Amino acid sequence: GQLTGGIAHDFNNLLTVVVGGLDLIAKRESDPKLKMYAQNALEAAERGARLTAQLLAFSRVQRLEVRPTYVAPLIANMRPLLRNVLGPGIEKQIELDEDLVPVLADPTQLELAVLNLAINARDAMPEGGVLAIRTRKLAVSGDPELHDGDYVELCISDTGTGMTPEVLERAFDPFFTTKEVGKGTGLGLSMVYGVARQSGGTARIESRVGEGTTVHLYFPRAPEESGEADTSAPEGPVVEREAAASVLVIDDDPIVRDFIVSSLEERGYRVREAEDGAAGLAGFREQAPDVVVLDFLMPGMSGAEVAKAIRHERPDQPILFVSGYSETEAIQRAAPDAPLLAKPFRADALDAAVRGALARVN
Ligand code: ADP
Ligand code: MG
Repeated sequence: GQLTGGIAHDFNNLLTVVVGGLDLIAKRESDPKLKMYAQNALEAAERGARLTAQLLAFSRVQRLEVRPTYVAPLIANMRPLLRNVLGPGIEKQIELDEDLVPVLADPTQLELAVLNLAINARDAMPEGGVLAIRTRKLAVSGDPELHDGDYVELCISDTGTGMTPEVLERAFDPFFTTKEVGKGTGLGLSMVYGVARQSGGTARIESRVGEGTTVHLYFPRAPEESGEADTSAPEGPVVEREAAASVLVIDDDPIVRDFIVSSLEERGYRVREAEDGAAGLAGFREQAPDVVVLDFLMPGMSGAEVAKAIRHERPDQPILFVSGYSETEAIQRAAPDAPLLAKPFRADALDAAVRGALARVN
């Protein structure tokens, strides 16, 4: 997991530069052919970004937007998508617990997990069969892996080929696949496992050759008092004052920093940059910026340490973390309310996140 996370992190930094550069080219270029090349390359780079997102989910370092989520309606909303993925030869049996109980999970990742499981089931049933999706409430006690308490169990079963014990043993490993090159990445089940573990639950597989496969996902029930955290940026046009807002960008990677600085300048922000935490703090004292855009992983002072020092001097300073590889807990300890923008991102998303960070104090 750590190795995967490390590689994905470096790869994500590269993709930040690629996506950002292509985005600027696509916007500025007037030659329609060149514009199209840039657009196509951008789409491919974003596919790469989704792949690294899956890797990061597995390695448990990606910050998930974990919030109270209702599993049953989420599955119900996926019906049209599942119909497309499965095709006409596979019968769907969906049995959802009507009594809704919220769980703590990232809804987007959960959807992606179900989609991965449905694709695996389809691949295991080339001649057709039955895919069943069920949810139910479950009280867990004395489980070696799970804390005692209330859970929601989500089961996805197929009547396909099943797995041999050897395949079953390695099925959750990243990059483990029995499919031919181009057909499988071996990342589906590792992503599923990562999503369940990060939500405080787990994933288990039951499978026998010739008898089909059932994947069980367990999600802990959300505590009643946990409210819905809204991290989305406010809608609407840029207000004058915000357009002229001053931003301090602290990131050790010169190319990533360049991209952030130039896309913010392009939108009218007054930008100052620093290449490490110490220079950043000095800049902070001089500039008193409206927003600090802060990389999380840096040599020397980490982003968390910089944020702590800044908040010590100015407790309500808006800070936006940018990172491809983040430790939720460390960020939350340093600056509990600071939003996080995952690398790679486009100029628009950066702008929206900066405005979101500004809006928090108003
Ligand atoms: P991929 O689908 O890209 O191969 P996954 O991580 O999703 O990667 O799955 C890993 C392997 O586990 C598959 O290659 C396959 O051998 C096995 N597997 C996963 N799901 C099923 C299933 N529903 N039925 C049979 N085998 C499965
Ligand atoms: Mg798969």
